[in-house]
Amino acid sequence: MGEAPLLNGNRLRFVRRVIIKWYEKSGRDFAWRITSNPFQILIAEMLLRRTTAAAVSRIYEKFIGRFDSLERLAKARKSTIERALSTVGLQTMRAHHMKQMARILLTEHNGVVPNDLASLEALPGVGRYAAAAVMNFAFGASEPLADGNVVHLMNRLFSLGISGPTDNAIWEFMRTFAESQDKRLYWGIIDLVSTTCLRRNPRCNICPLSCSCDFYTANPK
Ligand code: SF4
Repeated sequence: MGEAPLLNGNRLRFVRRVIIKWYEKSGRDFAWRITSNPFQILIAEMLLRRTTAAAVSRIYEKFIGRFDSLERLAKARKSTIERALSTVGLQTMRAHHMKQMARILLTEHNGVVPNDLASLEALPGVGRYAAAAVMNFAFGASEPLADGNVVHLMNRLFSLGISGPTDNAIWEFMRTFAESQDKRLYWGIIDLVSTTCLRRNPRCNICPLSCSCDFYTANPK
């Protein structure tokens, strides 16, 4: 990882501001972004782990309408949950995890989603990113967040050379970069990668970050 970008606070602040501003103008609307219900946010983050936001958005509202409580999810037949998830894939594993998650929350957490990173991360089908996402988006915590989108964009902007979200360096970097809790920053990163900083053909000509991007500086188009 290069050191200069990490130490350049002004540049980090500038990039952060640009992403948030871009998100406010061009970010996407998803149902899980307008709720503060921890259960609904947890379900969304479990689905988003291995599936695009666009695909999740096609089933999400119907799913949380049908399984609108931990009790209903815990009592549902696994095959019923699987059918509800069939269009987003991995339905066998996801239905299993969701039932297990609901049972654990009912029996070990008094039927509420815990406001606690370690407890969230220990739930089946959740993991580090989804747990931190729930802490940020449902409880207003300032937990760093790093997934493939974050690694991709930060690598391009700052030449970090980080291999993936399992590398602790990106989590440490995001702790500095995010500075404080702001949902718009993370949602902006996700949406920029989905619409602009594409992996194969980045659309640098319309990107608000081109004036501060290492990749663009090295590959001007
Ligand atoms: S300028 Fe290009 S490479 Fe850099 S962040 Fe924007 S789209 Fe990605």
